[in-house]
Amino acid sequence: MTKNILVVEDELSIATLLKYNLEQAGYHVELAHDGQAGLDMALSMKPDLMLLDVMLPKLDGMDVCKEIRMHKMNTPIIMLTARDDEFDKVLGLELGADDYMTKPFSPREVIARVKAVLRRFSPQPVQTQQSAEKIFEFGGLRVYPDRFEVSLHEQALEFTPKEFELLVYLIENKNRVLTRDQLLSAVWNYDFAGDTRIVDVHISHLRDKIEENSRKPVFIKTIRGLGYKFEEPKAV
Ligand code: CA
Repeated sequence: MTKNILVVEDELSIATLLKYNLEQAGYHVELAHDGQAGLDMALSMKPDLMLLDVMLPKLDGMDVCKEIRMHKMNTPIIMLTARDDEFDKVLGLELGADDYMTKPFSPREVIARVKAVLRRFSPQPVQTQQSAEKIFEFGGLRVYPDRFEVSLHEQALEFTPKEFELLVYLIENKNRVLTRDQLLSAVWNYDFAGDTRIVDVHISHLRDKIEENSRKPVFIKTIRGLGYKFEEPKAV
């Protein structure tokens, strides 16, 4: 099925170039030229992915991102930033962006990044009957890695793609201590070398969502001076 991409970019030449190249790569593309229009379109078209410029008229990219997450949409968002933007990546991630690209970028780079993000966050095709779906279950917490779903005591939880990816990675390495650098390179791959605050921000979001008391976490433990560990809680 054709994936729908919403590009929110006020520089007409960049918007047109992105649209052209993404369409060449087989995506359906809609354009918005200011933040408010971008937000309205995102809410109505529910795109599979958004490319969102940071500096936009009417409503800036950070606010658009924040609003989208407040509407409980987990569409992956790649922020487009200019090299000289005073732009705090950590704040952007806190607001729910998933990835960044710094202008100028080549069309090829954009397509590669879009593909990678879509691959990471798309639900996998329906499994054949022989292969059972993978489910992680810890007490009331259930994580369905292939379906991009998490529930706690049967209640579905909303996760951003990065939060989800981090949680799954922690679970796949449960009972092992993972350093912030390990998590950074496993979940964020590139772009954020050295800035481990991103990890802390996401861990704190995860705790708010899955822990009964995020100050006394049962699942995600802080290992002082080292990093984090996902622990399988002892049966009560
Ligand atoms: Ca701009």
